[in-house]
Amino acid sequence: MTNSQILLVEDEPDIALIIADLLSAQGHHVAHAATGPDGLHAATNHRYDLLILDVMLPGLDGFALCQKMRQQGFDGGILMLTARGQVADRVQGLHLGADDYLAKPFDPHELTARVTALLRRMGKEALTPVTRFQFGPVSVDFSVPAVHRHGAPVNLAAKEMQLLRCLIDHRGQVLTREWLLTQVWRHQPFITPRTVDVHIAWLRQKLEEEPQTPKHILTVRGEGYRFTG
Ligand code: CA
Repeated sequence: MTNSQILLVEDEPDIALIIADLLSAQGHHVAHAATGPDGLHAATNHRYDLLILDVMLPGLDGFALCQKMRQQGFDGGILMLTARGQVADRVQGLHLGADDYLAKPFDPHELTARVTALLRRMGKEALTPVTRFQFGPVSVDFSVPAVHRHGAPVNLAAKEMQLLRCLIDHRGQVLTREWLLTQVWRHQPFITPRTVDVHIAWLRQKLEEEPQTPKHILTVRGEGYRFTG
């Protein structure tokens, strides 16, 4: 996806220049703000597809900026730039509405790959919603929404349905717990990766023939989960 409107909020001029050059070369329109308040002003007064927010910023940090934009109803993508290995930062940002993370110092190719994936994901979700899906003895109709197994209705809670939808929309791909948190539980406080595990277990109980040896909702050791139809 090219020609996206991207706002970069980064106070280190050399890093800002590198990122702007990389993304401009891919056909994106990149605006730049060097402080938190300038970033907030820009993001409030123009419609961007994606915000790239450094965490450590003068005036207003990236987390606060992220939170304010979500509170204002911003529904585009938010990619945070964090220091390498700051797990606590990552978890905090997820709760505030960030979609993805990139640790500094980053590989330029990784930055462009993350941006492309994020923009594609957002566009894809808007363009090709799956309405019906069948796997094994289970049939799902997201338009109702309704789930049947061997023809009998299965009662799924709202979050279970959202998680199932996410798994089916991204079938075949390895999905990390953190990514699933951003997709299904975004903006909600007090949620941990364990929440994903619990909901996965519930889905298996309700949908798998043998929940202990699932055939569709698979565990990928050390990485996350993968759905296979
Ligand atoms: Ca900084």
